[in-house]
Amino acid sequence: MSAAIIDGKAFAEGLRARIATHAGEFAAKAGRKAGLAVVLVGEDPASQVYVRNKGKQTIACGMESFEHKLAADTSEADLLAVVEALNADPAVDGILVQLPLPGHMNEQKVIAAINPDKDVDGFHVVNVGRLSTGLPGFVPCTPLGCVMLLKDKLGSLEGLDAVVIGRSNIVGKPMAQLLIAESCTVTVAHSRTKDLPEVVRRADIVVAAVGRPEMVKGEWIKPGATVIDVGINRVPGTQEGKSRLVGDVDFASASAVAGAITPVPGGVGPMTIAVLLRNTIVAAHRNEGLALDESAI
Ligand code: NAP
Repeated sequence: MSAAIIDGKAFAEGLRARIATHAGEFAAKAGRKAGLAVVLVGEDPASQVYVRNKGKQTIACGMESFEHKLAADTSEADLLAVVEALNADPAVDGILVQLPLPGHMNEQKVIAAINPDKDVDGFHVVNVGRLSTGLPGFVPCTPLGCVMLLKDKLGSLEGLDAVVIGRSNIVGKPMAQLLIAESCTVTVAHSRTKDLPEVVRRADIVVAAVGRPEMVKGEWIKPGATVIDVGINRVPGTQEGKSRLVGDVDFASASAVAGAITPVPGGVGPMTIAVLLRNTIVAAHRNEGLALDESAI
């Protein structure tokens, strides 16, 4: 293996420490803690784990965590009423509605009901528009975490060729926007892309957000490129009955060619909640009209 490992776990720890300092200063100035509200509808086991971890990390960073757990058969109108109450609550700086929502609810309608200035997930169309026009808003946590890791490793990204594999609203598209903002030359690949290996081979930066275990092979990677693996895929383990997590990149072959690479687990994954907390402390300062050097967090 020749690639340097990009340690997202360590970076996220450092980020949380910086957030905790800002959260303490915020509480002293505002006379209250910054607050993050998480709404969970139903009992999806993976969502329950995410919500529990978000709550724990919010509190550990010195912020207030408000959890709203609603039954799976809650009506859309009742969920919208909860969102409205959180929009109006001055103790709540950030609102996150855990996705996916049960099938009888319209996710777009629910996200659209969140006040964009409390939309710390960055999924509201107003924040999507702000990102694409270069206005301050909130950026989805996973792609923002990827850019933080890239800048930490490479410094300026200006002029680099970047290929983003995947065009989802939560990862691929905002990732491409962020890389454009960093003055990369960006190609977005997807399931209809012709000759994906050849497209990837041109890239100084490869971001894989596909959801297909170990799809991106080492021979697709330009020697020395930086590889960010967003994928989280559970596959059967070597021992019977056990499973393991792998990314969208074939780590063994890619790490022999790349200059730097994120592992799975321990790469992009730990960044998502840390960036959610970063967005929340930013929201809190904006909501109270307090100064904060957002680029330094
Ligand atoms: P998604 O909504 O399913 O989107 C997948 C994208 O990959 C689509 O744009 C799709 O193309 C493209 N794709 C599928 N098969 C392809 C192929 N054979 N060749 C090229 N492109 C292909 O997934 P997502 O939500 O963006 O998530 C992607 C991965 O990131 C998943 O493994 C997910 O678990 C992981 N993830 C991790 C985090 C985290 O680290 N915290 C957060 C979010 C997601 P089309 O548009 O043409 O269908």
